[in-house]
Amino acid sequence: GNASRLAAINAITNAKPISTEMPAPLNEIWASDVFNLATMEESLSKNAFKAVKETVHTGAVLDAATADVVAAAMKDWALSKGAKFFSHIFYPMTNATAEKHDGFIVTNSDGNAITEFTGSLLIKGEPDGSSFPNGSLRMTNAARGYTAWDPSSPAYIMNTPNGATLMIPSVFMSWTGEALDKKIPLLRSTSAMDKAAKKVLTLMGETEISPLNSSCGAEQEYFLVDEKFAASRPDLLLAGRTLFGAQPAKGQQFDDHYFGAIPERVQVFMQDFEDQLYRLGIPAKTHHNEVAPGQFEIAPYYEAANVAADHQQLLMTVLKKTAKKHGFLALLHEKPFAGVNGSGKHVNWSVGNSTQGNLLDPGNTPEKNLNFLLFCGAVIRGVHKYGPLLRATIASASNDHRLGANEAPPAILSVYLGDQLEKVFKDIQTGNLEPSVCGGVMDLGLSQILTFTRDPGDRNRTSPFAFTGNRFEFRAVGSSQSVSGPLVAMNTMLADSLEWIAGKLETALAANSDHTVAVFAVLKELMEEHGKVIFGGDGYSAEWHEKAVEERGLKNTPTTADALPAFKDESVQTLFESTGVLSPIELKSRYEVYSEQYILSIEVEAKLAIDMATTGIYPAAMGYLSELTSAINSASSAGISMDSSVAASIASNADAMMKAVASLQQALQVHDFECVEGHMRYCADTICGLMNDVRGYADTLEGLVADSAWPFPKYSEMLFIK
Ligand code: ADP
Ligand code: MG
Repeated sequence: GNASRLAAINAITNAKPISTEMPAPLNEIWASDVFNLATMEESLSKNAFKAVKETVHTGAVLDAATADVVAAAMKDWALSKGAKFFSHIFYPMTNATAEKHDGFIVTNSDGNAITEFTGSLLIKGEPDGSSFPNGSLRMTNAARGYTAWDPSSPAYIMNTPNGATLMIPSVFMSWTGEALDKKIPLLRSTSAMDKAAKKVLTLMGETEISPLNSSCGAEQEYFLVDEKFAASRPDLLLAGRTLFGAQPAKGQQFDDHYFGAIPERVQVFMQDFEDQLYRLGIPAKTHHNEVAPGQFEIAPYYEAANVAADHQQLLMTVLKKTAKKHGFLALLHEKPFAGVNGSGKHVNWSVGNSTQGNLLDPGNTPEKNLNFLLFCGAVIRGVHKYGPLLRATIASASNDHRLGANEAPPAILSVYLGDQLEKVFKDIQTGNLEPSVCGGVMDLGLSQILTFTRDPGDRNRTSPFAFTGNRFEFRAVGSSQSVSGPLVAMNTMLADSLEWIAGKLETALAANSDHTVAVFAVLKELMEEHGKVIFGGDGYSAEWHEKAVEERGLKNTPTTADALPAFKDESVQTLFESTGVLSPIELKSRYEVYSEQYILSIEVEAKLAIDMATTGIYPAAMGYLSELTSAINSASSAGISMDSSVAASIASNADAMMKAVASLQQALQVHDFECVEGHMRYCADTICGLMNDVRGYADTLEGLVADSAWPFPKYSEMLFIK
């Protein structure tokens, strides 16, 4: 093993960027592989285009004749791009995407190949979906799943070096119409939010209200490791993280990586990656080095949530593929290296429409401020009431390693508003900020207060859920996760809060027709009940962990085993049912799928740890021990007496490691659990605990065994050599 490790070090030290073509100008490549409205306008008749545009913007149903016309245009466009196959792409309940490819080809009676693609083929597909997790939503006798075209997310071409496939973003449902994917709930949550927001805005006297949507801009962190190292790390290849590895002498304590010069190989990779995103119509906007060595971030410009979610999935796919082309393994795991910063995905989220604008933007005018205060209040209430749900949507075995660790937002959901805005809400609560009505103009003096400086210095980076000037940023989301789950939870909790606000506002307006007075009354009540969730201090501190739970009554749920059962809370079930986002059985199926995934990924890691310890680390330790002891023996025969404490330490750690391996092996044999909660708890406590024991001894051995005899690339190598 060590020979290949040393060869890898040598090869990587001298590695050069791969040769690439001259970059193409942005206007030539932007969305060149996307069948978007602009492409359709060129190829469709005026009437057909009008119908499609209506569907894209409002979700109106497309008639069969128009669907045929769109399908034909889409096919011609795809064929001209070299595509021979098409695929509905869908988003199952895992964090992955799924696709089934079909050829455009049919042969006629003369044996000639012709191509065919009808409206019905475009609209509906039937993948053999029985292998996707469905959480008992589909019994095997009803194993049919359907995909259906989502016209609001544009189709595109996926290129490989010698082929291309037309990809059609789709929903995925059972034959009885239950949502088997992450897209259907997202679309439903948008409608629920739209409906509730319209109620509030109407009560606020708005007359023209266009459809509301949420926006999402997701900042994606990731690590790059040279694939020559990754090739001899089965843990990186199979689990996406290192299960072993001692701390390097030079860690990130130097912080010189953050925003540092991006090494040339990485720079070349990034430009290639971004060019591909541009071709796919994904607006890559910023990139930089992250805190940890070997860690980077990419953030596209924000888009409508549904499109942003599809683009996020595509971005992760393109990231991995392009990294490979450049000789890197891209790690999306939340904590690939213990003791080094983990990776998150900051989900920036706002809601708005074309008539009222961004409702989370305080703006400069008092009337707009009132709408803003209501929507912001709705978020505060939502996070307080459904914090455990938000936590559950980001729960995974991999994110558990990051949440609550030193550098990541804690596993306690609180809201950060910033000093100015926090004061406004606290003052409304205590009555220090009185609504005053002078001559029909609402002058709260808020217009000055609420014109926030959008200064990053004002940001609290320790909060899991922070207001950042004109949006909220959910920072506890994991780097490998789909953004859909968090977006569904945020949209739905907002819908619920806006419904509550609408009810209260109606009563308040009946008592006092002045909007300002009514809004203040509603917000006062809201703050009294839910203001406890606002926290501007250091979210990483031990003091907050104690205070949050004991004084504020917030929940601290450090592991997935603690967090996922929130899906079974009655309040959560009522939330999803009343808003029409998820039926009780759809919700239950998600709980089943996620808990199964949690258990599975921990069991896979445990087996891998056993394997690497037994077949890699133990042999290396024993080999070196035998060298040491024979050297000591030879020395002793030559009359030289030597200290044997290193040899003894290797022997005892190797023994202890194998004992821990045996215990872990035994622990994995236990299968009789009364309920899935019990099984998750067992994984979180017993299995993870034993894996840590094995790792402890193994990492000690890494510091004792000769460097040349160590089988796996070390942290210092994987993180620093580029
Ligand atoms: P930072 O790292 O300082 O948080 P970035 O510029 O890296 O900021 O990322 C901010 C993300 O938030 C980007 O994806 C950006 O497009 C997105 N964003 C900006 N305004 C909004 C908004 N109103 N709604 C949703 N997302 C937004
Ligand atoms: Mg950010």
